[in-house]
Amino acid sequence: MTKAEFLSKQKEAEYAIREKGKFIPWLSLMITIAMVAGIGMLAGFFRWTVYNGDPAYGLLWEIAFCLLVLCITSYEHRYSGQKTVALLKKLGLTCPICDRSSIFDNGKITAKTGQCSHCDHSFFDPAS
Ligand SMILES: [Zn+2]
Repeated sequence: MTKAEFLSKQKEAEYAIREKGKFIPWLSLMITIAMVAGIGMLAGFFRWTVYNGDPAYGLLWEIAFCLLVLCITSYEHRYSGQKTVALLKKLGLTCPICDRSSIFDNGKITAKTGQCSHCDHSFFDPAS
């Protein structure tokens, strides 16, 4: 790989991560936080209804729904991370020795020196 090819691939990966992959992970993180808070609140309210002698079993269905949404968003979050790793490997921006990516701050060092920022693996000849 030449320096120009490396920089082009790096730009492509950084754009994909910054622009395309920004909305969904944040949305799933917000939903996850809301679901965790909702489960805590509903469980506390259910406990209160049991304590007062009239258990509101509908709350258990709501807790189950929140758990389901939590599982889906957790899976989505994990899946989007795997997609990013797959993209970096496809573009050759992951070091084959130490498995670290060469984008953003690490990528700046690699763009200057041609070597992995963590080990001595050479991505390209800096003179090219
Ligand atoms: Zn490395």
